[in-house]
Amino acid sequence: MKVVTVIGARPQFIKAAVVSRAFQKSDEVEEVIVHTGQHFDTNMSDVFFEEMSIPKPKYNLNINGLGHGAMTGQMLEKIEVVLLEENPDWVLVYGDTNSTLAGAIAATKLHIKVAHVEAGLRSFNMKMPEEVNRILTDRVSNVLFCPTDQAIENLLKEGYANIDADIVNIGDVMQDAAIFYSSKAKIGNLETPSDYILCTIHRAENTDDPQRLKSIIDALNKISQTMDIVLPLHPRTRMKLSAIGFSFETSKIKFIEPVGYLEMVHLLKNCSLVMTDSGGLQKEAYFFSKYCITLRDETEWVELVNNGYNSLVGSDYNKIVNEVESRLKSGDLEKSDYLYGRGNAGEKILEKLLEFNS
Ligand code: UDP
Repeated sequence: MKVVTVIGARPQFIKAAVVSRAFQKSDEVEEVIVHTGQHFDTNMSDVFFEEMSIPKPKYNLNINGLGHGAMTGQMLEKIEVVLLEENPDWVLVYGDTNSTLAGAIAATKLHIKVAHVEAGLRSFNMKMPEEVNRILTDRVSNVLFCPTDQAIENLLKEGYANIDADIVNIGDVMQDAAIFYSSKAKIGNLETPSDYILCTIHRAENTDDPQRLKSIIDALNKISQTMDIVLPLHPRTRMKLSAIGFSFETSKIKFIEPVGYLEMVHLLKNCSLVMTDSGGLQKEAYFFSKYCITLRDETEWVELVNNGYNSLVGSDYNKIVNEVESRLKSGDLEKSDYLYGRGNAGEKILEKLLEFNS
């Protein structure tokens, strides 16, 4: 069975690492990796391939720094050429980026089967580019690998019972990653305070809206007067903060460059609280028993909120400051559930692809 994996952004490298590891254990799979080039910096791309033993991409399309239309269009064109050359049984795509959508459309037009990992997630906010990408990708996929029952329910509500696609809950590949890499966490060059909040911000709805960005960063500045905040800074956020005249020099927030996954796991294990607008980090907070304050108005990971592990505060200054103050007192999460499976999603994906291929 030949699989072409299309990836291009940081969270996709982490997810693909899990599945590639399962593929490498099987002699029935030949995997060809296509890197679209969406993320390209050493610390946004190369470090993950090195640390997580992801096979070197056979193709790097080097497409980045463009608007949504040009980026997706160029990817579509170039992926089609690759697929005609490789003629795989499956194209495997992850999550909700432009690389996901381009891979799915290129394959489906060539009548190559598409498998979508992290299918069925919905924020119900069509202003998010990710929501558009995931809805369209789901619709053309032949196999929908859902991480939760909620994701399956979302698809059924959209009429997927009448669509010719296989829908399975295999758990979340990020749970596999957290379990596998937990013991491999490394401090690297990090110099962290003894007690700190781990924070990331990069969603377009926050970075591209100066008012939201300012409100969030003002709240973080306020909190950092009394509690350390470690913030690995996404390149887009750095650019947008500079554009609104943010003073990095006078801020007490501990900005660091984006880190590799193994350092991120170290930061997660040792922090007191997570604040983020990332999808992946909301779940990782839960995996490592930390409470998460989500800097968004809605989340795809509703089970975290419903079970009391996550609160949505949006970009409101007072809500952010007050929520942090009250959550810092509660300590680590006490949990006994497995919202995202038991850490064998990678093996299940392999098993199902082989089954559906025959
Ligand atoms: N991450 C990382 N280094 C960083 C920031 C994030 O390795 O400096 C990891 C994080 O632990 C998670 C993934 O990147 O596994 C999340 O990616 P991101 O927040 O960029 O995307 P999203 O999950 O929102 O799609």
